[in-house]
Amino acid sequence: LKPPFPAGAGIYGCPTTINNVESISVIGTILRRGAEWFAGFGRPNNTGTKLMAISGHVNKPCVVEEAMSIPLRQLLEDHCGGIRGGWGNLKAVIPGGSSVRMIPAHEAETALMDFDSLSALKSGLGTAAVIVMDQSTDIVKAVARLSYFYKHESCGQCTPCREGTGWMWRVMERMATGEAEMREIDMLLDVASQVEGHTICGLGDAAAWPIQGLFRHFRHEVEERITNYRAGKPFVQGATLQAAE
Ligand code: SF4
Repeated sequence: LKPPFPAGAGIYGCPTTINNVESISVIGTILRRGAEWFAGFGRPNNTGTKLMAISGHVNKPCVVEEAMSIPLRQLLEDHCGGIRGGWGNLKAVIPGGSSVRMIPAHEAETALMDFDSLSALKSGLGTAAVIVMDQSTDIVKAVARLSYFYKHESCGQCTPCREGTGWMWRVMERMATGEAEMREIDMLLDVASQVEGHTICGLGDAAAWPIQGLFRHFRHEVEERITNYRAGKPFVQGATLQAAE
């Protein structure tokens, strides 16, 4: 039964680290070159190297091993050929895999790819799977799609996740079209906070965080969509894309 999670109390009741392939693959190099060498990358509390997988609206999506704390902008420009249409065309970045909260372009400008920098921005390094979204992105629909993914992945063991992921997805779909009620925004955020931290595994958190990130930075877009829908001007998917082109 969890919590506690293995990092708090695992084997023999002690804090236990479960290594993934990325960690195991670098152990040989650390043993050969020394811990100090490895810790020389990055900045204090954020040391070493990290596999970073960049997808989305960059010119050259790729997976690269880089030093921790590399500036996000440098990562995207040095390894991915920059943002499609230039840096000014950037809308938002999900820096640590689909579950972490997104950051808008102006925060991505100065963010470092490490634990402390991204958590100070209320996001996270997560798996360092960076998802880049340019101005053509229907960001509400994008998060609705993530919500569908987490609903689909829920194993159904615990109630907040089993019921919450489906509920959040259905509301997010109506947010994307503008059909939702304005009062449902706060209701959705309330439900997301009830799912967050109240489930057996991390999938509940993972389902809540993208929604929280969206409303933290782009609430005005959802509100505008709802207002326009009521005024008889439903949101047309692709209209933003055409405008950008
Ligand atoms: S939080 Fe994890 S254990 Fe609980 S229902 Fe969701 S996927 Fe299953």
